Amino acid sequence: MSVVVPGKIHETLFDGKLQLAIYSSTGRLMDKRKTAVDSDVLPDYQELREQARLIKKHTLENLDWYLEQLESNVQAHGGKVVWCRDGGEVVDFLAGLAKEKQARLIVKSKSMTTEEIDLNERLEHHGMDAVETDLGEYIIQLAHERPYHIVAPALHKTRYDVADIFSRHLGIAGETVPENQTKIARGVLREKFLGADIGVSGANFLVADSGAIVLVENEGNARLTTTLPKIHVAVAGIEKLIPRAQDLAVFLKLLGRSATGQPLTVYTSMLSGPRRGSEIDGPDEFYVVLLDNGRSRLLADREKRESLYCIRCGACLNTCPVYRKIGGHSYPWVYSGPIGAIITPQYLGTTKDPWLPFASSLCGACAEVCPVKIDIPKLLLMLRSEVTRAKQREGQGRLEKLGFRLWAWMMQHPKLYEIAGMMASAVMPDAEDGWIRRVPAPMNQGPLRGWMSQRDLPPLPAKSFRQMWRTRKRQVPG
Ligand code: SF4
Repeated sequence: MSVVVPGKIHETLFDGKLQLAIYSSTGRLMDKRKTAVDSDVLPDYQELREQARLIKKHTLENLDWYLEQLESNVQAHGGKVVWCRDGGEVVDFLAGLAKEKQARLIVKSKSMTTEEIDLNERLEHHGMDAVETDLGEYIIQLAHERPYHIVAPALHKTRYDVADIFSRHLGIAGETVPENQTKIARGVLREKFLGADIGVSGANFLVADSGAIVLVENEGNARLTTTLPKIHVAVAGIEKLIPRAQDLAVFLKLLGRSATGQPLTVYTSMLSGPRRGSEIDGPDEFYVVLLDNGRSRLLADREKRESLYCIRCGACLNTCPVYRKIGGHSYPWVYSGPIGAIITPQYLGTTKDPWLPFASSLCGACAEVCPVKIDIPKLLLMLRSEVTRAKQREGQGRLEKLGFRLWAWMMQHPKLYEIAGMMASAVMPDAEDGWIRRVPAPMNQGPLRGWMSQRDLPPLPAKSFRQMWRTRKRQVPG
């Protein structure tokens, strides 16, 4: 399948500083995960993965029932559930709520679901100020970028980049010490927390039997977001549901370890309903916004439904050789890496970015580290064949099909195949330092040109397999 590779990929590949930042950050996360799931530390790791997968499978097969259970339990605790088909409906609800309460300032904790629907930008159009309070998210919000990584949104930024961003947007120049940069952000954000009218969070899990949302984080900003403002709105995809609070024992053990190598994140909050009469902390109003945004379509597809098992740990990104080279901003949507390559085409349509399912070496490293055992390579292959079929329907890919037919025909004619091999080796230039770095100009076209722009070829062997085979047969009679 010939694909159009976005220019961003080339830009990333040739940016040495960025390559180093991606490689070292993902490498560190990978090493920490490896240690945290080692059989000496967590002997039941594989059983936990299997349990997590089964819980997700069961929940999604009975999602309608569990969603209703969640709704009635949220209501029983004094909260409200808002059902939204897409991002537009989420924004309409929030804008309406803000208007009714005369709210202007919103503080937010990290949430990929709200990134998915461009919540901040859309709220801005309604005259509201939505401020990210997770440090990484705050940095990229100031830089007007989208997250580079599901777990570490500013993974691509060095402390010098952060110093530059703070200097341009906060007027504080020359601060390159990470601890001091954190203090600066804390000072700015504390004022925002104190002045905010609404706190918007995501949810790592929604617990049906307790009507609770669960948030895991390391900075404590989610706690401030959900308890200081008078109104708390949690925006979550419908797939975040788990049946019982006791199921958290499985997922919490896997999530922190897979994401950052921590046995547990620093803060785990379970929030159900607004502040009760005798409590000193908490909002007066509590809303759970349940977002579909294409999830029902995925749910209806039995073969690919497992894409919804994802708990957004980011382990597949860290281990993916493609993500580690092309980085998060080369992907067309907020979800990058292997999980982005399988859910983006399913949410946005297979023909929108047809190259995406092909952006994988199919090495299987992602499936090996996924805590809920999503068979990502299998899903990539399914999506590839969907893209190919769609292209064929549109009359595209004829040249490629012809090429493969020709190849198959040659393979069935050994003599011709051998002659073609001899001709290719005759025109191929000599190796430089043990590698062929260029091919002759007439061959340097189309996909081969793209291939050769990033890779070198090993030198051709002095003799072909057939020549060696003939020699061997002559030497070993019978
Ligand atoms: S697909 Fe698996 S490894 Fe990747 S982010 Fe989701 S849960 Fe983590």
